Amino acid sequence: MHIVAIDGPAGSGKSSVSKAVARKLAFGYLDTGAAYRALTWKLLSDSLNAADVDKDFLETKLNYQISLDPDNYWVKVGQTDVTYEIRETRIGERVSEIAQLPVVRQYMHWLTHNLVEGSGFAGIVVEGRDITTVVYPEAQTKILLTASEEVRLRRRSAELPEGISIAEQITKRDQNDAKVVDFLSPAPGVELVDSSELDFDSTVEAIIVIIERTK
Ligand code: C5P
Repeated sequence: MHIVAIDGPAGSGKSSVSKAVARKLAFGYLDTGAAYRALTWKLLSDSLNAADVDKDFLETKLNYQISLDPDNYWVKVGQTDVTYEIRETRIGERVSEIAQLPVVRQYMHWLTHNLVEGSGFAGIVVEGRDITTVVYPEAQTKILLTASEEVRLRRRSAELPEGISIAEQITKRDQNDAKVVDFLSPAPGVELVDSSELDFDSTVEAIIVIIERTK
């Protein structure tokens, strides 16, 4: 299986770009951030907090499911479809705190391998914060997708109903996440794609060129 690992900060476009790349190549698509968001959703909806998360909770109570089809993307916790709810600001505000727990990172590492290896696709695009460095350092294609802070804030505020007020939250989330994983500078063997000056289609194209080269 050809594994394409894509890291990058919030607002770099990694989710929409990764999805489009997967669609073009008929690959699977795995959004690893969705699992951290779904866990945060579960904790908030059960009125629990970080101290309640342990291995047993993750393995037996979370019941996380995610589609790997870039044309039919959904996320579920148990029977509940949380695809849209996990994007809400209340989740974005708490997710970094939960993502810093070692037991959570360990479980997510295992979960990502499990989903990818059981997917049955010829190739899969896996995106997140630590995919090229920690989760899939052995991937055939490793890319760090970035954009300048100004561009990232502009893209994210256009995406979200709260508009520019969200900028502060994203900057804070990146700072918190950067304490755990360095997703701002490429590790050895990771190709840097800076999308500050590229439009969406050119960014997708730049990544496909790298994938073809690393096949
Ligand atoms: O990618 P997204 O912004 O949806 O990720 C939400 C959060 O999940 C990140 O801010 C980060 O705290 C956490 N995350 C992570 N490692 C990943 C993916 C996401 O720590 N591979």
